[in-house]
Amino acid sequence: MATASATVHQNYVDGQWVPSSSGQTFENRNPAKTDDLIGVFQRSNAKDVDTALDAAARACQRWRLVPAPLRAEILFKAAQIVVARKEEFARDMTREMGKVLNETRGDVQEAIDMTYYMAGEGRRMFGQTVPSELRNKFAMSVRQPLGVCSIITPWNFPMAIPSWKIMPALVCGNTVVFKPSSNTPLSALNFLNVLIEAGVPKGVVNMVTGGADVGTAMTTDPRVSVVSFTGSTDVGRQVNQAAAPTFKKVHLEMGGKNVVMIMDDANLELAVDGCLWGGFGTSGQRCTAASRVVVHEKVYKQFVREFVARAKSLVVGDGLIAETQMGPSNSEAQLQTVIKYVRIGQEEGATLATGGHRLDKGAYAKGFFHEPTVFTDVNPKMRIAREEIFGPVVSVIPCKSLEEAIAIGNGVEYGLSASIYTQDINRAFQAMRDLYTGIFYVNAPTIGAEVHLPFGGTKNTGNGHREAGVAALEVFSEWKSVYIDFSGRLQRAQIDVEQI
Ligand code: NAD
Repeated sequence: MATASATVHQNYVDGQWVPSSSGQTFENRNPAKTDDLIGVFQRSNAKDVDTALDAAARACQRWRLVPAPLRAEILFKAAQIVVARKEEFARDMTREMGKVLNETRGDVQEAIDMTYYMAGEGRRMFGQTVPSELRNKFAMSVRQPLGVCSIITPWNFPMAIPSWKIMPALVCGNTVVFKPSSNTPLSALNFLNVLIEAGVPKGVVNMVTGGADVGTAMTTDPRVSVVSFTGSTDVGRQVNQAAAPTFKKVHLEMGGKNVVMIMDDANLELAVDGCLWGGFGTSGQRCTAASRVVVHEKVYKQFVREFVARAKSLVVGDGLIAETQMGPSNSEAQLQTVIKYVRIGQEEGATLATGGHRLDKGAYAKGFFHEPTVFTDVNPKMRIAREEIFGPVVSVIPCKSLEEAIAIGNGVEYGLSASIYTQDINRAFQAMRDLYTGIFYVNAPTIGAEVHLPFGGTKNTGNGHREAGVAALEVFSEWKSVYIDFSGRLQRAQIDVEQI
């Protein structure tokens, strides 16, 4: 298995490694050291997608008939292989994505957890059996696969997110065409190789690397039944529109602008720890990043003092070095977005309490590094308090009450994750009820989801679906209601009403 060499990698279609018909490739480079060329991947086109969809559609005819517990056995094997290679995969991932090793280990672990979880579903996938209103009639519902699934993923969780989608798709009996982000194709390749080694039959999982034109072909083709997309809200909207004419089931997980609310009775030390991890973990490049911190005015000064001091002391560097606490941005484009928003925050009149600069000297010279940045005295109307930055920038907003904090928390277009720090159970439950988000935490930051609970958001973060847990089965299967009449005569529901 090629894991870390600058070799040319191919697409995987119908059980074969094949080059793109475009004849073009793209490079995958280390965001901490751009002279480190990790690999070269196929810049595919619509023709490659066509071949992959063809293979997936054919394979589906066999795969859907494989008993779910047998499909699940392959997943179980896959999970075991990932366990054995966890460290190697985490290193590859840090090298191409940038986040620190402990976090990439967590990313790989999430893929393991999800794969085991979905392997378990192979023996559950519960439907319903209910009494019929008619005599000698049996009624039940069963899950059925939908067919070919287009899986389109971002770069910030390069193995976890593909696993959240591919594993439920497979266990439900669908086949897959997978397009990973062009910024993290090596982790996708590592995961694909695991599936091949675990015994996934040819055509069942196909991988086509490339950019938007590949994605467009995957979202418009009539052979595709499900599109599962994680990425930005702008691209998600395009995906939704592209898939609408053919009535595909579209599952969208998109941007976030998550809030931590710190009340005057909070354990401040705990809150500072949580906001550091939530705001600067993965260099702020998480859909659930704690990019807004709303603090009660009674503890505002103390929180700001401690939080800013801790942010200032974070060690920024190459994620492969043990001392590093925060890695680079994933790309020049992402770094430029951070720089742009720092400028916007200053122009809007927020106080730049720490950070605010690109790091480009010495060991930083060849990477996309930025200082951990905190804006204080932020007004919730400012763009830095409303728009997703996806970088190491946290906006601290003062508030006077829980009610005001909740209003600020809800006052953005996104609805992924929110959290409250308080010792008061009444406030905790009120906030839990009133924050319109898909995920809520008490006395913890906005990140830290576990694979057996639904994951996703409201408003412009999602379109009503959830991934992870049993909720993922709703995306990748559909219900068939089955009635079996063993009376031997015509019985008409709602018409032949029997008197007791
Ligand atoms: P992106 O939207 O730029 O790209 C996501 C994927 O879509 C990539 O594979 C990309 O190549 C592909 N793509 C681009 N144009 C396309 C098109 N027209 N049709 C189909 N596919 C297309 O996002 P990104 O920069 O890779 O990731 C960052 C974003 O992802 C952030 O907004 C973040 O909040 C979001 N995200 C959300 C979640 C969640 O669960 N809600 C999780 C992780 C990341």
